[in-house]
Amino acid sequence: MTQTDATDAQYLADYRPYPFILSETRLTFDLSPDATQVQAAISLTPRNGAADLVLDGGRGLDLVSLLIDGTAPDASHVIRDAETLTIRAAALPDRPFTLTSVVRIDPSANTAFEGLYLSNGMFCTQCEAEGFRHITFYPDRPDVMTVFHVTIRSGLPVLLSNGNPLRQKPGLAEWHDPWPKPAYLFALVAGDLAAVSDRFTTASGRDVALNVWVRPGDQDRAGFAMESLIKSMRWDEQVYGREYDLDVFNIVAVDDFNMGAMENKGLNIFNSKLVLASPETATDGDYERIEAVIAHEYFHNWTGNRITCRDWFQLCLKEGLTVFRDQQFTSDMRSAAVKRISDVQTLRARQFREDQGPLAHPPRPDHYQEINNFYTATVYEKGAEVIGMLKHLVGDDGYSRALDLYFDRHDGDAATIEDWLQVFQDATGRDLTQFKYWYTDAGTPRLTMAEDWQDGVLTLRFTQVTPPTPGQPDKPARVIPIAVGLIGPNGDEVAATQILEMTEAHQEFRFKNLGARPVASVLRGFSAPVVLSRDIDDDTRAFLLAHDSDPFARWEAGRDLALSALTQLARGQAAGDGYIGAIGRLIADDSADPAFRALCLTLPGDEEIATRLAAEGHIPDPDAIHAARSDLARRMAEAHQDTLSDIYDRMAVEGPYSPDAEPAEKRSLRIAALGLLNRIDGGDRASVLFGVAGNMTERMAALTCLIRLGRGESALAMIEEQFADNRLVMDKWFTVQVMAAPPADAVAIARDLAGRRDFDWKNPNRFRALLGGLAANHAGFHAADGSGYDFTADWLIRMDAANPQIAARMSTAFETWPRYDPNRRAKALAALEQIAAQPGLSKNTREMVSRMIAAGA
Ligand SMILES: [Zn+2]
Repeated sequence: MTQTDATDAQYLADYRPYPFILSETRLTFDLSPDATQVQAAISLTPRNGAADLVLDGGRGLDLVSLLIDGTAPDASHVIRDAETLTIRAAALPDRPFTLTSVVRIDPSANTAFEGLYLSNGMFCTQCEAEGFRHITFYPDRPDVMTVFHVTIRSGLPVLLSNGNPLRQKPGLAEWHDPWPKPAYLFALVAGDLAAVSDRFTTASGRDVALNVWVRPGDQDRAGFAMESLIKSMRWDEQVYGREYDLDVFNIVAVDDFNMGAMENKGLNIFNSKLVLASPETATDGDYERIEAVIAHEYFHNWTGNRITCRDWFQLCLKEGLTVFRDQQFTSDMRSAAVKRISDVQTLRARQFREDQGPLAHPPRPDHYQEINNFYTATVYEKGAEVIGMLKHLVGDDGYSRALDLYFDRHDGDAATIEDWLQVFQDATGRDLTQFKYWYTDAGTPRLTMAEDWQDGVLTLRFTQVTPPTPGQPDKPARVIPIAVGLIGPNGDEVAATQILEMTEAHQEFRFKNLGARPVASVLRGFSAPVVLSRDIDDDTRAFLLAHDSDPFARWEAGRDLALSALTQLARGQAAGDGYIGAIGRLIADDSADPAFRALCLTLPGDEEIATRLAAEGHIPDPDAIHAARSDLARRMAEAHQDTLSDIYDRMAVEGPYSPDAEPAEKRSLRIAALGLLNRIDGGDRASVLFGVAGNMTERMAALTCLIRLGRGESALAMIEEQFADNRLVMDKWFTVQVMAAPPADAVAIARDLAGRRDFDWKNPNRFRALLGGLAANHAGFHAADGSGYDFTADWLIRMDAANPQIAARMSTAFETWPRYDPNRRAKALAALEQIAAQPGLSKNTREMVSRMIAAGA
């Protein structure tokens, strides 16, 4: 018997096919909260002669019996260790055989929410990435695919699994999934549930029963999820030609869930916050997110399930592509410009931050210790950006030919990034050797641009450098698609958008026969995930903000102006007048769409300002940043009081609430105006709005304003009284009072909240609500006395013992620690070392913490 070393890394280069082929897996569950019995009959055929049969599964599986074709193998041929069960080749037939195991598991003791667990009396599962091994002994890897047949015995009324139902009667259900799948897509749900139901007929005429399952009483909050599902199914047929392939599609909402949602074949399981919504309880942002995530999980049916990943190193194959698809979907449903800008904001806030710190890794990593730590912004969001670049390089037609070939060639496969790139090469004839660095190299390239104007010729000179990241000191030049347009001195576009393909470290591009010197609008649509620096003055930025025809570039010009002012202010210099003037012209421009104006009015957050300062070689001071932002916001409000006040009144939406794009966009502008006016009206507008608003969007916005001013007490009490029994609203309630608190009070407030009885911290949403709220309060988390670090470290240690995945993920609050001053660094490092010194720390958290500590060494 060997003990597996918990710090052993897995390497991509070590991939070997599984030595057995599975033709069927039959599972029988006898459900009981603390003693569920699982029988697994797996039909296996040796692939290439004799080999040991190694099955994943360790602690928590109580092995009752093990039979090979009905006979128990000799005990000397069966070896169990902490993570596997091995049956020696000598005990196995050299022809097809069936391995039948019976194990007992205790779902009620499963606080990690991986495998089979209980949530409010309901059984449910989460198997991605490696949860199935906590259910039974199995080759738990994505390239082992087979047909599953599932029998569930339980007294609970609703019993669900993947595929199509074969038999349903009281106490028993049988499900058969005809599509071979890996174990991570297995799901089971059993509980007292109620459904919102509908039907969908696919393009080729298949009639599909649709159900969204919730707790009885919640049906009135599940209608929007159903609408979103139907829209997604139609969109995937129209845009990608992909139809649904089973007779039923079930979605289940569950309160205790580590992730957002999971695309199990035919049985998607969702965190309830991504299903349940009503105007009184959910914000516009919640509605948009529900629509996007329902779509995302549904789209996985093709990009993830029908074509899955060969191994977990290829995670971005399914996630990058599916995020890209859900982004396209949202762009089609709502404002494409606003969606693009919001996606870039998210990318910069999460992925750039990751890429510039100790946790940087490529979209396709080549090693990991714990795969759960790689469900990251780099794999998801950067994975999607890489696909966006591919589409720029091969064009829309090339992209759709490549996708058709991908679905044709790889349906039923467990594929790799090489397979994915090969279909683009074959469909378009383009060599993608250099492009592949986007998948294999970490780090955000820095692109520098210089301009030269002579005799009617504009020359743009670019240089690219990708800074070193852990384990990757030097990186070759990448292919960077740079979308550029030219704007004449009168504001008219003189050259429409074209893609410049940069392939060298230094490269120049010429635009000839120009009458007068134009202004270049560069990186339109954010055509590549890079940091662009160019020698540009504030007047030129203001010109682009006024005239650029590309909405992203226009917004970006305003953003740059704001960041330039804010970083100067944070360093004690006078700044901001130019920005305030330029933004005034934009917000008064009623021809610009309201959501776009709202985005332009919203100042960059403290975190983004800190990132910019660090990139410019300064040590960010969280308190000075916070003060700079408050100062600029107050001055904006003072300068544009009348316009803002007019916008605030005019953008009020009359009539009953609708989550549709148009009213939501008006509300977003109204709320942006409120946020600024709140700096000078003492909270009067927010106070009135909180009292009269009939929807959670405006109430939450008003509440945030009041908390900022230290006036939130009675509004918070009202929310608490009205929604004490509504988990999702109370999660917001926890978050907002820490996130929006004056930084000096944030830790004390978090401490008080953590002492409340309803801080049931083992629920991932509630834990994230509080700890995530503090992490989002930049100056509060980075309090100079280290109290934010200590509070967070204490809770991470506590959470790690119950739910390692959540603890590891939340530990990223510390990921930027090396960029701060020596005092903060010392305190953050001490907190990280305190976590690392914890006896029995999980592999998940240990990997994260040691990577972060290593960065300061
Ligand atoms: Zn996904």
